[in-house]
Amino acid sequence: MTFDPNCIFCLIVNGDAPAQKVHEDDDCLAFMDIMPQSDGHVLVIPKRHAAQIFDVTAEEAAKLIRVTHKVAAAVRTAMQPDGVMLAQLNGADAGQTVFHLHFHIVPRYAGKKLALHASEMADADTLKTHCEKIRAAL
Ligand code: AMP
Ligand code: ZN
Repeated sequence: MTFDPNCIFCLIVNGDAPAQKVHEDDDCLAFMDIMPQSDGHVLVIPKRHAAQIFDVTAEEAAKLIRVTHKVAAAVRTAMQPDGVMLAQLNGADAGQTVFHLHFHIVPRYAGKKLALHASEMADADTLKTHCEKIRAAL
């Protein structure tokens, strides 16, 4: 399957749902997580619908991690966190809540606990500001 009309990330890829986009190329898209666990939380996805890492080829996975590597570096430059966490969840029992493959880039700030996973919507202006800062660092 390349597109799932019931998938929110497919709708974002198609431009049918809004997102603060950080990076876009032929195969991948990176955008701000709408319920960030920390300031500067970004998601990186393949444009083609695939639920889990096991549903893409090794080549597609490699492309996704190349983009994640590049965008994570920009997040680090832009947000100046004390650390950066990368996460990728496969299956509901692993905590996955959106079933379109994605890497999380989560900046970590010393002494600051993470917000709960997918719990609270971010302020739209703050997301936009973070998005612009990260784009400028790419
Ligand atoms: P996971 O639990 O690994 O599947 O993570 C899904 C992530 O997608 C969570 O961090 C959510 O906050 C995020 N999310 C859900 N809907 C949207 C959306 N429309 N735009 C941006 N991020 C989203
Ligand atoms: Zn999808």
